[in-house]
Amino acid sequence: MLEVETAQQKILDFARIKESYRVPILDALGFTIAENVQSDTDLPPFDNSAVDGFAVRSQDIASASLAAPVELKIAGDSHAGTPFFGELSEGSAVRIMTGAPIPKNADACIMVEDTKIDRDGFVQIHESLESGRHMRLAGEDVQKKDIVLWRGMHLGAAEIAMLAAVGVMKPLVYKKPRVVIVSTGDEIVDPAESSPLPYGEIRNSNLYALAALVRESGGEVHSMVHIADDYDQTENTFRTLGDMQDVDLIVTAGGVSMGDRDFIKPALEKIGTLEFWKIAIKPGKPLAFGRIADKLVFGLPGNPVSAMVTFELFVRPVIRKMSGISDDSLFRLKLEATAGSDIEHIPGRQEFIRAHLTSQDGRLTAIPTGDQGSGIMTSMIGANSYIVVPIDVSNVKAGDRITVMMLA
Ligand code: AMP
Ligand code: MG
Repeated sequence: MLEVETAQQKILDFARIKESYRVPILDALGFTIAENVQSDTDLPPFDNSAVDGFAVRSQDIASASLAAPVELKIAGDSHAGTPFFGELSEGSAVRIMTGAPIPKNADACIMVEDTKIDRDGFVQIHESLESGRHMRLAGEDVQKKDIVLWRGMHLGAAEIAMLAAVGVMKPLVYKKPRVVIVSTGDEIVDPAESSPLPYGEIRNSNLYALAALVRESGGEVHSMVHIADDYDQTENTFRTLGDMQDVDLIVTAGGVSMGDRDFIKPALEKIGTLEFWKIAIKPGKPLAFGRIADKLVFGLPGNPVSAMVTFELFVRPVIRKMSGISDDSLFRLKLEATAGSDIEHIPGRQEFIRAHLTSQDGRLTAIPTGDQGSGIMTSMIGANSYIVVPIDVSNVKAGDRITVMMLA
């Protein structure tokens, strides 16, 4: 049996990054940027006020205090979008709003709260200011020609904001890998046609779980199919999918164990190549990985929890790599935490326990979300992490230091 990390690396070695293309910025969320993005401007682009108040020359108000205010003449207004174009002359101030350009010769802004207007056209200043006070300087965030986004970064809301700020309306992104999802099983029914649920049948939750996981991971669902526990249908499906031009990954669920109705492995061996089959993991030991033509094939176990956990560990990093995410960000964050309860574990397989991680009295504490059986879907709900129990460890005691893999 392969260890989890060995299997992950072997699988990643087969993953090829997709080609890139340009998309409109509003469609770019969730893609990976395929070029370093350079700014064509300083950010902020001009010196501007951090407060509502008055732009002043600091030397004019060096002696100002509440007891002995300095009076300045109001020379005009600077609003965001409507600057004051003149220069500030000695003894004068410009009324200024937050974000508005600082007039020439002004070197500080005073908050309106530290001023008072007694007579029209003049302002009393109650405080002295050092030069530069309450100003946001041009380029203090980004300087023209700075790299603001690096190739391989995931585009979330903050990155989209930066693209807009530097005027990149059609970012170059990597294409998303396209995934076909195949569920298997004679007992599995389409949830749309299953009320009331006939005795002995099970609604197809894996198809939907895997579609959601593909999208969450940055992939695109090419298509979803269900096949019966039938060797010929399995082989034909693999043959058809193998011939498709626009498919990168094939992810199946179920039919991958040793049962006499488990046809994924033999069909994969016939139509493509099986790279490996068993991984020292709980849940999810039987897991087939192989190739059909240029497509990577994952035969995940059918138990809903096993399917989701093995997807998380083996398929998600591959989707991320293919979609261009940089190598140092393929895997989930792992943290040290404290076990919130005893956990039974038999050495021999690395175990992933659905857990809820919280901060208790400043300590990160992980508590299993319930029964850990591989068919128990309720314990996936509300889990924000997996407790990772190493292969050679036996039972974990409440209070032990543990490793937790974050899911969000
Ligand atoms: P298998 O790996 O095919 O033996 O399936 C293991 C268990 O997972 C069985 O109890 C199946 O009924 C269940 N299962 C398999 N596929 C699905 C599916 N698509 N949706 C929900 N449960 C499934
Ligand atoms: Mg089955």
